[in-house]
Amino acid sequence: MKVLVCGGAGYIGSACSEYLLDHSYEVTVFDSLITGHRKAVDSRAEFIKGDLADRDLIIKVCENGRFDAIMHFAAFSLVGESMRDPSKYFRNNLANGINLADAAVAGRVKTIVFSSTAATFGEPEESPIRETTAQNPINPYGESKLAFEKVLKWYSIIHGVKYAALRYFNAAGASANFGEDHNPETHLIPLILQVAQGKRDKIVIFGDDYVTPDGTCIRDYIHILDLAQAHMLALDAPESGHYNLGTGNGLSVREIVETARRVTGHAIPAEIGSRRSGDPDRLIAGSELARRILGWKPQFENAYDIVSSAWEWIRKNPDGYNDK
Ligand code: UDP
Repeated sequence: MKVLVCGGAGYIGSACSEYLLDHSYEVTVFDSLITGHRKAVDSRAEFIKGDLADRDLIIKVCENGRFDAIMHFAAFSLVGESMRDPSKYFRNNLANGINLADAAVAGRVKTIVFSSTAATFGEPEESPIRETTAQNPINPYGESKLAFEKVLKWYSIIHGVKYAALRYFNAAGASANFGEDHNPETHLIPLILQVAQGKRDKIVIFGDDYVTPDGTCIRDYIHILDLAQAHMLALDAPESGHYNLGTGNGLSVREIVETARRVTGHAIPAEIGSRRSGDPDRLIAGSELARRILGWKPQFENAYDIVSSAWEWIRKNPDGYNDK
């Protein structure tokens, strides 16, 4: 089976490409390298440098490629940036996504697996969050992802392209070869590990007055290899669907800091700062549908294993991919 992985040089796309290749799929990575890294493209994959804004190019790639499926990871994903520059998010995550959807139709691609997000739920009405929970995004990033879920729904009805929208909760961890290298880095676990590396003095915890047992925000951290497994299973889903992907276990910011102290043996000084705007108290996935329909079985259910895998990758790659 031949899969086009758009955004396959990014954090989650690189690990998913590797996972597919390990399971005998043929992979072509299409990536602009704006945020991705050339070194994050598995050497067994074919690589095309291109941007989804280039409509003619992506249509040509799909018409010539004879792909059975597309995985679509290529997007901007910073909530704060989306609040300052919504145009950037709607152009890339929505308009350029439509170029890809049209290319899928032109190339007769049967299936699209799409990287959606818990941010489509905004301030959720219930916890855990189910697939049926109302989606009310509170920033342009979440709105752009929700809009593209709807594009896919209509393309499935009108053009018969099957899709799976996978709503990731907090992607974390690393595979043996591929890990997290964002510039600038904004995510909790890599920032904490930069303290253990000696690159930062301390981690600032964004608020300790949330309505949670220790006052810090609770999130559902899911290993990227478990996300990769879900993507592969989604290729064979019987019909189009939406799936929330998380472990179902919430961990507070303090618990993550404490876990990183145990993993690294470093004291990791932490300081309480002010809240970051737009952070809900608690985001926990109800992922029963993925387990039941896709047969998904996450392998990394505890924080220690997730943080350890990230730490191992950082120790092997202290400056990340070192290519920007
Ligand atoms: N966080 C924090 N300090 C940081 C970065 C993040 O306290 O320097 C918190 C953030 O408020 C959230 C959690 O860690 O509650 C996870 O944030 P991250 O940016 O990793 O992922 P998000 O939940 O925004 O997708």
